[in-house]
Amino acid sequence: MSHTPGPWQCLSRARRPARHSSEDLLRDVHDSTGELLATCYYTMGDDGNRVIANALLIAAAPDLLEAATQTLGLCRIRGECADVQPDEYCCGEHVALASAIEKAEGKL
Ligand SMILES: [Zn+2]
Repeated sequence: MSHTPGPWQCLSRARRPARHSSEDLLRDVHDSTGELLATCYYTMGDDGNRVIANALLIAAAPDLLEAATQTLGLCRIRGECADVQPDEYCCGEHVALASAIEKAEGKL
């Protein structure tokens, strides 16, 4: 299973950068070719900021996944993770990174 390559971006329906507009209560997440990947909708009780925050988080997902994978990989090669068993990590933060990666890969 492999996700659409990043970078992804969050846009309003008018294709303006999301941080510069709050009147539109939908936010779309597109890949680098402009293909629509996801749409976040306003929900009851949302002041409009949550839908933007949700779409921004989704758009950042490929970057976050890559950063987490690289961080763990580097620690496994030349950090404290190199000194523990392959299924263990050097600290709670790296356990959390591994868990987030597994969630993104559908392993949890
Ligand atoms: Zn580590």
